[in-house]
Amino acid sequence: MATIAGVHSLSEVQNKTLSEYRRFTETEIAPFAGEWDRAGRLPRDVITAMARAGHLGALVPEEYGGSRLGLVEFGLLNEAIGLGCSSVRSVLTVHSMVCRSVARWGNAEQRARWLPRLASGEWVGAFGLSEPGAGSDVTQITTTARPDGEHYVLDGTKKWITYAQAADVFLVFAGFEGRFSAFIVERDTPGLTVVPIDGMLGTRASMLAELRFEGCRIPRSALLGRPGFGLAPVASDALDVGRYSVAWGSVGLAQACLETSLGYARERRQFGAPIADHQLVQRLLTDMATTVSAARLLCLQAGELVAEGRPDAVAAVWMAKYFASTGAFRAAADTVQIHGAYGCDPSGAPQRLFRDAKVMEIIEGSSQIQQTMIARLIPCEEG
Ligand SMILES: Cc1cc2nc3c(=O)[nH]c(=O)nc-3n(C[C@H](O)[C@H](O)[C@H](O)COP(=O)(O)OP(=O)(O)OC[C@H]3O[C@@H](n4cnc5c(N)ncnc54)[C@H](O)[C@@H]3O)c2cc1C
Repeated sequence: MATIAGVHSLSEVQNKTLSEYRRFTETEIAPFAGEWDRAGRLPRDVITAMARAGHLGALVPEEYGGSRLGLVEFGLLNEAIGLGCSSVRSVLTVHSMVCRSVARWGNAEQRARWLPRLASGEWVGAFGLSEPGAGSDVTQITTTARPDGEHYVLDGTKKWITYAQAADVFLVFAGFEGRFSAFIVERDTPGLTVVPIDGMLGTRASMLAELRFEGCRIPRSALLGRPGFGLAPVASDALDVGRYSVAWGSVGLAQACLETSLGYARERRQFGAPIADHQLVQRLLTDMATTVSAARLLCLQAGELVAEGRPDAVAAVWMAKYFASTGAFRAAADTVQIHGAYGCDPSGAPQRLFRDAKVMEIIEGSSQIQQTMIARLIPCEEG
């Protein structure tokens, strides 16, 4: 992997931070991404390495053992991890969504029980919202929570849950008294069955699974936030974090496409010259480089607006995710193109980048949902 001399849209401090995260990726993640993709799983070692580096506690307050990064710093971390492996970045995304939810909506007892374990990597969190019949429209959730003495009883199925094959705790959303509530369910709870989903198109190593709840009894203390507060605010707040993380992860993925394509185009010779000298290939490289820069700037803007608590921050995050994910997919398609047949070879990075990039256009709000949401959220001047 080529090292960057510095990204001009970032400050000196941000460049230093990104370089530090990239060093972690270059040693612990990037060399193994292809192997993990082919195996369809991540070894626990990489989770341990992420934890040791403080990355799993990125959104956990320091008093609970976390590293509590600023939002832009968290974004740079996602870019660096996404540069190396989108499956690992996906785990970081959902785990951070759970950390954020417990830190923000949990009571003192819940924070004390789960946050130190999540920050240290002893436990990894997964986010259980989608169901077989509830994707973009989460109001179609049919999983239910029924109060029973000192317990709730969960029944229903969650589908496509990232890292559920190995995660230790699940943030689960279920209907309760006509509204939706959020619950933290620990893996060994009787009545919960985890059914692996293997061979996904992209982020293949992120170990998806289906969660089946059949008379699953969880203690009353598992309710996160107030009853009926599940979708708004808990899920929507977590999804804002997830969208922001995927936006930055897409910048990293597009950057990986650029570096892979540049390296290859300068080496590969056809018609007596490196293909990088052919103007139509230069056009692909130019579009890729411009996309990476523009997407990073949108992500930076989103991070800064969210940190300032600005009302237009929500639209900025949606725009960043929309632009970065669609741009990453174009960049990945062009990466395959630049590599020709080598781009289609199962042992090479381009086909993995292409498959992973497609997923970015679906998760945390599909491109179509982004398009309709952004149209509604476009900030406009008064008068
Ligand atoms: C690799 C992977 C990992 C995932 N991880 C998780 C996870 O950890 N936790 C979790 O809860 N879920 C997870 N998901 C599920 C993901 O959140 C959903 O796939 C996503 O919300 C879209 O829902 P859907 O797939 O059911 O598509 P649908 O909502 O059924 O949409 C199908 C198509 O219709 C379009 N569409 C739908 N509604 C509209 C509309 N109003 N206007 C225009 N077009 C529309 C969509 O854009 C899409 O193209 C994961 C999915 C994948 C692929």
